[in-house]
Amino acid sequence: MKPFEKILQDNKDWAAQMVAEDPNYFKRLIEIQSPEVLWIGCSDSRVPADKITGTQPGEIFVHRNVANLVIHTDLNLLSVLQYAVEVIKVKHVIVCGHHNCGGIGRH
Ligand SMILES: [Zn+2]
Repeated sequence: MKPFEKILQDNKDWAAQMVAEDPNYFKRLIEIQSPEVLWIGCSDSRVPADKITGTQPGEIFVHRNVANLVIHTDLNLLSVLQYAVEVIKVKHVIVCGHHNCGGIGRH
């Protein structure tokens, strides 16, 4: 099995497990999104926002890029920030870096 095939199968397995544990799990997630936090973090695979914060789906709104940069000409970041503040009405914006970031380190 190729890596992407394993990821897709793991996603199917996870979704089936969530429904088995709670038949309304996805129905609840569809109905509302009102996280209080926008998390701007690094794309590094070792620092997934939900895992390192112990949050569940629906609890944090996430934007990730290499080295968790906030640059005023980054339209992707700006659209996330505007949506989070104006539509979702988050109360907090966290910009979080991490140790040994490849986007910051020397190559
Ligand atoms: Zn990084």
